[in-house]
Amino acid sequence: MKTYKINEIFYSLQGEGVRAGTANVFIRFSDCNLRCSRNKEGFDCDTEFISGTQMNLDQILSQARSLSATCDWVILTGGEPSLQIDDSLLDALHTAGYKIAIESNGLRELSSKIDWICISPKTAESSLRQKTAHELKYVRALGMKIPNPSIKAEHYLISPAFEVDHLPSENLEHCLNLIRDNPKWRLSVQQHKIWKVR
Ligand code: SF4
Repeated sequence: MKTYKINEIFYSLQGEGVRAGTANVFIRFSDCNLRCSRNKEGFDCDTEFISGTQMNLDQILSQARSLSATCDWVILTGGEPSLQIDDSLLDALHTAGYKIAIESNGLRELSSKIDWICISPKTAESSLRQKTAHELKYVRALGMKIPNPSIKAEHYLISPAFEVDHLPSENLEHCLNLIRDNPKWRLSVQQHKIWKVR
């Protein structure tokens, strides 16, 4: 049976974006096709995605259900989940009763079977292969502009960059000003870091 390299599966509240505050089972995939750093992308990656355990579909579903018998949303995240997800995984999650959200950097085209797509680009617009999203979210630190997005989305979000576990006031103030100047965009704060939940 095919296996997927999974960093962790946990149950928590979504802390950011339009679905913030909702309970979800997070399936965090190992590996990423980027290595975001302050010098290149403007901020350092804050996620450990190298380690992982090979798990088959039965093991993934069983662990997800053991965390909550009633939660009906899963979030596929990473690392970069699009490197591993396939129709078998999506179909199995749907059959098990889950709605599926994903958090991706947009470098690979995603399946239309996914119920909620959040794209957070880290690279040039010309490199993005996914062209639509429910929410499009850019992490911005002081001095970073809003790009002219190539992705058509229902919601356009700006997320101030955190420093490890605190939100620098200059990044927040910069994002507030970006939104004041560009009112189509709205603020998304990584509230789970404030709530001290995963
Ligand atoms: S795309 Fe996300 S997970 Fe990958 S290196 Fe960048 S911040 Fe980290």
